[in-house]
Amino acid sequence: MPTIISHIAVPLALGFGLGKRKISEHLLCAGVLASVLPDADVIGFKFDVQYASQFGHRGFSHSLCFAIVLGLIAAIMHRKLDSSRMAAFLFVSLCAASHGLLDALTDGGLGIALFWPFDNTRYFFPWNGIEVSAIGRGFFSMRSLSVLASEFRWIWCPAILLCSILYFFNRERKTAA
Ligand SMILES: [Zn+2]
Repeated sequence: MPTIISHIAVPLALGFGLGKRKISEHLLCAGVLASVLPDADVIGFKFDVQYASQFGHRGFSHSLCFAIVLGLIAAIMHRKLDSSRMAAFLFVSLCAASHGLLDALTDGGLGIALFWPFDNTRYFFPWNGIEVSAIGRGFFSMRSLSVLASEFRWIWCPAILLCSILYFFNRERKTAA
């Protein structure tokens, strides 16, 4: 996985780029939570769940299906999230799906069970430029600095760019209106 901090780059970029009127603070918080929640599956290691199992790390919780389920829950709770049903569904699904997709760009561990429950194959993208972070230990090591540098380059820089583009187009549209 990229470090947990870097997964929140996606909701933050979308949220700040699209602005509070489209993505409320509550919806942004739900998106941030959805972007990190898939890694709660590491708890399985404590209970001897095999990494390669569908319930292991990068298994079902990293699938598109799981992301859609989180989106549906958000859609049901849309009033609490100060959002329309559709915006809540799309934003939370996208933030959750981005987790697995970013993990599939890393250079270590097993791939992502992207199409669970229809297919338990673990997938990577053909390009794996993001350095994988260690699970649970060694966060403050030289290797971690290298991981953070890799994430800054391949996740945070594109996220800042995306945020700026969205912000720019949002502002243009507002000015035109
Ligand atoms: Zn992950």
